Parts: sequence; structure tokens; C-alpha cells
Amino acid sequence: MGAVNVRADVRALPAYRFRAHPAAVKLDQNESSADLPTPLREAALERLRRAEWHRYPPLHDDRVAARLAARHDWPPDGVVVAGGSNVLIQALVVLSGLGRRVLTLAPSFQLYELQARLLGAQVVEVPLGEGFAFPADEVAGEIAVGEGVAFVPAPLAPTGNAVDGADLRRAAESAGEGWTFVVDEAYAEFADSDQRGLGIDLPHVVRLRTFSKAFGLAGARLGYALAHPELATELRKVLLPFSVSALQLAVADAVLDAPELVAERVRGVVAERERLFTALADRGVACVPSVTNFLLLTVPDPAATHQALLERGVLVRRQDHLPRLSGALRVTVGLPAENDAFLRAWDALPQVIGVRHA
Ligand code: PMP
Repeated sequence: MGAVNVRADVRALPAYRFRAHPAAVKLDQNESSADLPTPLREAALERLRRAEWHRYPPLHDDRVAARLAARHDWPPDGVVVAGGSNVLIQALVVLSGLGRRVLTLAPSFQLYELQARLLGAQVVEVPLGEGFAFPADEVAGEIAVGEGVAFVPAPLAPTGNAVDGADLRRAAESAGEGWTFVVDEAYAEFADSDQRGLGIDLPHVVRLRTFSKAFGLAGARLGYALAHPELATELRKVLLPFSVSALQLAVADAVLDAPELVAERVRGVVAERERLFTALADRGVACVPSVTNFLLLTVPDPAATHQALLERGVLVRRQDHLPRLSGALRVTVGLPAENDAFLRAWDALPQVIGVRHA
């Protein structure tokens, strides 16, 4: 009998770091705490009833792409829809990073680096600046030469702070001939502005968006890229044909009928984020100023704090394994009652683990 025989790159790779814990108040994955309202679920189900389950879906769904294009004032043939923005991240590494360089920030969303290592790319890590600022000049310097793909989350993740549009554009403009510059806008809806300043005049730039956060559809698995139509054509070659199902498209279509719902949710999350930020500041807890649906805070003992919150029914995410984030915990902004439960649990934490109470 042969041994399990796989590439050394895969063997060496750690698995995506996520552990599910049952908890009454789940604030660990930056999801929307509210599911779709019943009428919208019904509308999605009606579309599913009418869908042709026995047929392949369209190779490229023009209808959903056109609706997303209208939302972003972008050419429809520059919109690429996939089963989650994480699928697009992998596709972009295949497209421009295989055997080349993949630039990521430290700390950043871990998937960029994991996919780069999986696909045998050379990882270049650029540390964030003071106060976790986007290091525009250092990034510009790294991508002025050579070839590869750069990933910048904007807003930054997992720190949650904003990236200045002019800084980002300056970095993107410095990219040499051989670079694709990816701006991952997973949390953009929660910020005052998005990165629309990175226009079609920059054909090497790709903006990634997701349905998993502000749209509240993490379970449906949908994301999309906004790219120059020429780059979009190449990106589609990398994605597996027919990998976005008719069922996913039906749900997306229904939710795109209710843009006011997304806007209303975002307003609710932003108000709650500010309330939570102030409540934590009142308790003397250091929090990175966030323009997203989560807050990153620092505690003396993240393992004990995570566990003690869990014992009080509240699940947050440890981030202290990431570079420069020793002591970091990430809490998703939930519904008002969930945020209250978080604060109550916080105030009930034992003094021995060193957190400050109100
Ligand atoms: N980018 C960032 C910065 C994220 O935080 C996440 C999800 N946590 C993703 C991409 C992946 O999102 P999706 O659900 O669309 O795959």
C-alpha cells in the first residue's frame, strides 16, 4: 500500500485556521447577525422554485453581472462573479502569482499567504506602519520591479482601519508591468467611502467584493471582482466553468432587488460599532479605530479572555497568532442585544485575566 503522496508545498501548509465553538452569541466570523427578512427569503425561494435545477447555469450570468455593474458604475463585461471572494483570491494567485511573487501585508487576511504558499509563489510580506497604517511607499517599492500579484484589503483586515484612497492609488500606480494589484473590499460597505478612485484607467487593478458581510449572505457563497474587461476575460479562464450554481445566482438576484435593506443594515452596524468602540474605550480597552463590522482589541491574556467570554456564552475570534498582533481579539459587531451580551460578559470577566471593567 502506498503512502499518502502529495506535493511538499501542500504538506507544509497549515490548514485554514478556524475552530467552531457552539455559543449563544456568535461574534467570531464577521457575518451579518441578522438573516434576510422573511419576504426577501420568500422571494429568493420563489426564484429557486422557478430555476431549472436540471440544466447547467449560464457560463457567465449576464443578468447578475449587469446588476452589479450598475451598482458600481462599472462595465458589465468587467464584472466576474464567483462562489465567494475567496475563490477569486485563489484564481488571482493562479492568474498572476504562480511561480512569481505574492505581496501581502503583515498582519493581513491570512488566505492570501496560504494560497500563495499552496501555489508555490514567493511570499513578500510588507509590515503595516505606525498605528497599522497602510505602508504605501514600501508597497510601491516592492512592486515597482519583478512580477506577481499584490493583495491589499481596504479597509484593512483584521485591523479594521481605513486605507486612504490617494495612498492606495499611488501604490497601485507604482506597479511595474508584471504586477496585478488586488484591492479586497470585503468590508467596504461599512466605511464612509470605497475605492472607486481606482478606476478603469488602471487596467492592472482588481477590486474584490463579497456578499458575505453587508449583504448578509455568507452561507450562499458569492463574491465578485471589478476589473478591466481585458483582465476580467483572463480571470474567467482561471475559474472553473459552471462553478456558480443557478441556486446561488437566484439568491443573489433576489437580494439585489433590495438595496435599501443592505443600506439600512449597514447603518445599524455602523451605529452599533461606534457604541461598542466607546463602551470599550470607557473600560480602558485599546481598540483599533474601525470602519468595518468588527473591532480589534488588545488584552493581556487573549487565550484566557477568549475562553472566559466563551464560558459566558460569547464567542469572539483570537487573532494573537498573527504578526504584530500579540494580545489581539476580534469581535464582530452584532445586533444590539448581542453587543449588550458581549459587554455584560466582559464586565463579568475575572480580574485575574487582567482586563479592565467599566
Ligand atoms: N477578504 C477578507 C478581507 C475577508 O475577511 C474575507 C472573509 N472573512 C474574505 C475575503 C472572504 O470572503 P468570502 O466569504 O466572499 O469568501
